[in-house]
Parts: sequence; C-alpha cells; structure tokens
Amino acid sequence: MLQRMAKKEMVKPLLGNESEIHQYDLQKITVGILGTGDFARSLAARLVCSGYSVIVGSRHPKRTASLFPTANEVTSQREAISKVNIIFIAVYHEHYSTLSELRDVLTGKILVDVSNNMQVNVYEESNAEHLASLFPGCTVVKAFNVISAWALQFGARDGNKQVLICSDSQEARCIVAEMTRNMGFNPVDMGSLSSAKEIENLPLRLFPSWKIPVLLALALFVFFYIYNFIRKVIHPYLMKGQNTFYKIPIDLVNVTLPCVAFVMLSLVYLPGVLAAILQLRNGTKYKCFPRWLDQWLQQRKQLGLLSFFCATLHAVYSLSLPMRRSARYYLLNDAFTQIKNDKDNAWVEEEVWRMEIYLSFGILAIGVLSLLAVSSLPSVAGSLNWTEFSFIQSRLGYTALVISTLHTLTFGWCRAFESAQYKFYLPPTFTIALIVPCIVLLAKVYLFLPFVNRKLTRIRRGWEVNRQVKFHEAGDVSHFSDFNAENTSIV
Ligand code: NAP
Repeated sequence: MLQRMAKKEMVKPLLGNESEIHQYDLQKITVGILGTGDFARSLAARLVCSGYSVIVGSRHPKRTASLFPTANEVTSQREAISKVNIIFIAVYHEHYSTLSELRDVLTGKILVDVSNNMQVNVYEESNAEHLASLFPGCTVVKAFNVISAWALQFGARDGNKQVLICSDSQEARCIVAEMTRNMGFNPVDMGSLSSAKEIENLPLRLFPSWKIPVLLALALFVFFYIYNFIRKVIHPYLMKGQNTFYKIPIDLVNVTLPCVAFVMLSLVYLPGVLAAILQLRNGTKYKCFPRWLDQWLQQRKQLGLLSFFCATLHAVYSLSLPMRRSARYYLLNDAFTQIKNDKDNAWVEEEVWRMEIYLSFGILAIGVLSLLAVSSLPSVAGSLNWTEFSFIQSRLGYTALVISTLHTLTFGWCRAFESAQYKFYLPPTFTIALIVPCIVLLAKVYLFLPFVNRKLTRIRRGWEVNRQVKFHEAGDVSHFSDFNAENTSIV
C-alpha cells in the first residue's frame, strides 16, 4: 500500500495542467483517527472538508458518535484500524500503552503521531519515537502537532500554515505531506524521526526569538526610567522641595520610551558594523563570527520591531501631553505670570524653530520606522526581491537612525552645554541615549571611506588576505593585484 501510494506520488507530473492535478486530488483515501477529543473532532472535520473519508475509532463509540457529523463513521478502535492504512493517533502520550492490545491490527499501518507534551523535554525520547518503539511493525510519522484544534477547525486561513513532518520512511512522509497540502497547509519536511523531539518542543516555546530582545528592551527601559526619575523627580524634591511625583505615570514614561526606541534601533545596526569590522580584521568572510554576534545578527528584526513599538508609544504619549490637567495648570500659570510681569508677548523665535524642526524629524522618523516594520512582515518581505529588501532594511534603516539622531539633537539643542542640566552631576538623558547611535553612525562613515569600502567589498565577494584568488572587479584590475601583493602568501 505504502509503495503504491508513493509511486503514485512520484509519477505525478511536476508541472501538469489543472485538470490533471484536480484528477489526482480527487483520488482521496479513507483515513482513521483514534480518539474522539477536541483534536480528533477538528481533524475529522478538516479531513472531510478536504475530500477524505474518515473512520473514527473510539473506546466508547456509542457514546461519542453524536460528537461527530454523520459523514464520519464512529466505531470501535479495532474495527476502525482494520479498515484503513493511515491512522491519526489523537490520544495523549500517557495512553499509548493502552493501545498495545491493538498491536496485531496496527501492524503494517502508518501511524501519524500528533501529540504534544505539557513541558519541554519532559520525556527522554520523543512521543513519536516512543510510539515507534511500542509498535515496531508500524511506520510512525510525526505531524500536525504544531497545529491547534482551533486552526484545524477553521482552516489554514486563520492560523499557522506550516505543518512540520518527520519520519524514518520517506514514502510515509510523502503521503502525509500530500494530505497536508490537500488540507490547505504547507508541509515542511524535517527528515527522520529523530527530529520529532525538536518538533514536539516547538509549540511549547514562548516566543524563543523574542526573549533576549524583550529582556534588553526592559533592561533599557528600567535604566532610563530610573535615570529620569532621579533627574526629574528626586532632584527637584531634594534640592528645591518641589513635588513632581505626578510625572511618574506619563511624563517619565514619555521621556524614557524614545531613549529605548533610539538605542534599540542603533542595536539593530551595531552587529552589522561589528561583523564588517571583524571581516576587515580577519581579512576573510570565511571565518565564523563569534556565537554571540551570530545570535545578535539573527535577532535584528525583533530589535527593530521593539524599537518601532517604543517609538509609536512615545508618539501617542506625546500627543496626550496637552490633555493632562498639569499641562493646563502650567499654561494658565505661565499666562498669569506674564500678565503680572506686564509682558504681552512670550514668543521666543529660537524655541519656536527648535520645536518645529524637532517635531518634524520625529514624525519623519516614525514614518520611516513604519515602513521598515511593514516590510518585515513575511507576506510583504516575500513580495520583495533581495535588492529591494536590503535597500529598505539597510538604507532606509540607516535613514531612520540618522533622522532619529537629528530628532534627539534638536530636542537637546544646546542643553548639553548648560551646567544647570547636570543634575547630581548626571548628564542630560538625551546625551546618554546618543552614545550608541553615534558610535554606529561614525563606524558606518568609516566603513564608507573608499579604501575601507573597497577592501570590504572584495572580502565579501570571496577575496582573502592570505590567499591569492583570481578576482577582477569591473574596471579595477590593477588595484587588486597591488593590494593583494602587500598581504598574501601564495596558495
Ligand atoms: P482530549 O480532548 O483529551 O481527547 C483525548 C482522546 O483520547 C479521548 O477523547 C479518548 O477518546 C482518547 N483515548 C484513547 N485512549 C485513552 C485512554 N486510555 N484514556 C483517555 N483517553 C483515551 O485531547 P485532545 O485535545 O483531543 O488531544 C489529543 C492529542 O492531540 C494529544 O496528544 C494532544 O497533545 C494532541 N494535540 C492537541 C491539540 C489541541 O489543540 N487540542 C493540538 C495539537 C496536538 P475515546 O474515549 O473516544 O477513546
């Protein structure tokens, strides 16, 4: 049976006309499901919608038959198994052993293990490998555990579309992959059954790629919040007896968020700069980066999205500032003071210009950051070619960093040079926030210097300091030979 189905799969044309494909799709088989729980019911519904016939095997078929639509046959476990060749085992790992009495009918069949555990690495071997060891006469395939019962019920349009599949039998993998496609999901071949543990651990991980970026963002937030709290609340309280604790919920958060957003954005581009400097120092691109740098490079998207999140919150907080009671009181008090001092015009030309430019840079920065965030969505990124994607993520990303730097500089204006701004000898917050972005921008300028850029470009195209490789850059043949001669030992 297995071989017959796999052969059918192999003879299927890679590019056929639509009617041929349709014809193939209609040749659906009957599949079995053991278990009548949430997953089994959703799976049965999806299989029926995809044109398959389904036989459900239950320990209590009379009691559970009403849970399924009439299109599904609900019968005893033994009878269901005897009628099909592919059986989804929709029961928990701890109940596998209760299926032992069915070993004789299960032999020779494909068992699709859909199970998950409650914790990562709870058992020494994966559930699928455990099932395979209990039923050595069967072919076990791990699949569908990454899809929830909910996603199965409502179809691939409302949830994760990828189904990771692994099995020691390539034929069985092919059959389950084809079924997956017919059900509207994307099969991902993960190879042999030894990958099952990795696949089983996947649904249990809580945003693994976000852990470090989120912790970093939180750490930066706490640092800048405390820094601002000391400068804006503790200092006036201790030095002048002023109560400014009302600033805690909005004002302090609003001055902290842009610092986090700005530093996080610079941390998106710092690893790229470090990687370039390492390549220049090593004189080759064929030397592995340190592990921490590799990981950092892989988490740039998350860092960028968190930066965008903080910048957006900062924009919303800023818009809410005039709505606060405290802002209205300050405005009124300023007006009274002006009247008392018999002053009829409070216009300060320099301040007006500073604010106009500062706000304009802020709006531009958030606009460019929005473009970067949108282009990181898989559906948008997938529609861009490599040049377009790298243009947006690199050029536009640096543009966002430059505009954010200008936004911060116009906010600071000349305050960095006023001694009154150094509360408890602490420099203004914006000067601290500027450190990493300025390092990144200066390093980028260095990498753009013609002689550095030329060397880096060569390295990235395969040239190595210690190896003589025939390399011709368009219109630049002699340069390379001269340059190379200084450094090489001939290979
Ligand atoms: P469930 O609602 O508790 O159903 C489990 C079913 O197992 C029962 O309905 C029962 O059906 C059957 N069963 C067979 N032998 C059993 C025994 N000795 N003791 C108890 N029950 C036994 O669980 P579920 O949510 O459908 O999950 C089933 C499997 O799918 C699990 O391995 C789970 O990890 C996996 N899964 C579930 C989801 C989800 O969203 N729910 C997602 C991915 C994977 P009968 O009484 O009719 O025999």
